[in-house]
Amino acid sequence: MKWTDDRSDNVDDRRGSGGGGAIVGGGLGTLIIAAIIFFLGGDPSSLLSSSGGNSSAQTEQRELSPGELKIREFVRMVTAENEQTWTKIFAENGMQYQPAEVVLFDNTTHSDCGTAQSAMGPFYCPADHKVYMDMSFFKELEQQFGAKVTEFSIAYVMAHEMGHHVQTLLGTTQKVDALRRSGRYSEADMNRVSVATELQADFYAGVWAKQTDSREQILEPGDIQSAIEAAEAVGDDNIQKRSQGYVNQESFTHGSSAQRKEWFMKGYNTGDIKQGDTFNQLLK
Ligand SMILES: [Zn+2]
Repeated sequence: MKWTDDRSDNVDDRRGSGGGGAIVGGGLGTLIIAAIIFFLGGDPSSLLSSSGGNSSAQTEQRELSPGELKIREFVRMVTAENEQTWTKIFAENGMQYQPAEVVLFDNTTHSDCGTAQSAMGPFYCPADHKVYMDMSFFKELEQQFGAKVTEFSIAYVMAHEMGHHVQTLLGTTQKVDALRRSGRYSEADMNRVSVATELQADFYAGVWAKQTDSREQILEPGDIQSAIEAAEAVGDDNIQKRSQGYVNQESFTHGSSAQRKEWFMKGYNTGDIKQGDTFNQLLK
């Protein structure tokens, strides 16, 4: 992925600030939790602990390493390119885009959806319009899920989370929440709604990749393939095979590897947000 000169100020780097708590981590449990919550749609609050802080919190501050500072620059750049691309797309459709903030953190941090923890993987909180990113997730993606992580696969994950922000700005998140709260739908039905929500975020990530490349020529050979690999690695069928040894389609909440690839590529190939009605296509 080629870097651009744009940097966003909407990045809140909380790493090294001493607010982090100790997380009991590792092992299959953490892996499954991360897998379930990774790319979570609408409202993660039910899965996030609402307790503030951590009794064993480490209050020590530390300097960020050069590698961590480089990650901040990268995240500021990808955030800026999300802002520019979505501002343009919204304007073309007669709407005004409101930027989301990106929070970089270690261990745990506060979100309006509850305490964010590293083991959850990146997520978007609709209540505060912020994307929460702990970079240790990408190590897990590489080591546990077997995906080769590139700069562009990180950009794809960020674009997916920004896709949930777009869903919130467009009112989709709120509609899905209303369905869930109505209690009129079975768990299997709500899982299908969740899959449609997640695949739409993948679709938006594809639209972002296409439109940003048109503006800034960010893509290099292999980039799209690395995003596809990341999307496939976290497909529900792949996760279930790894964690429980079999696949139960009814319990899917994010979509299969094939579906995640399909919708990301549909977004990339069309570059048109109007082609992303996963709800009508999947919930007939
Ligand atoms: Zn998601």
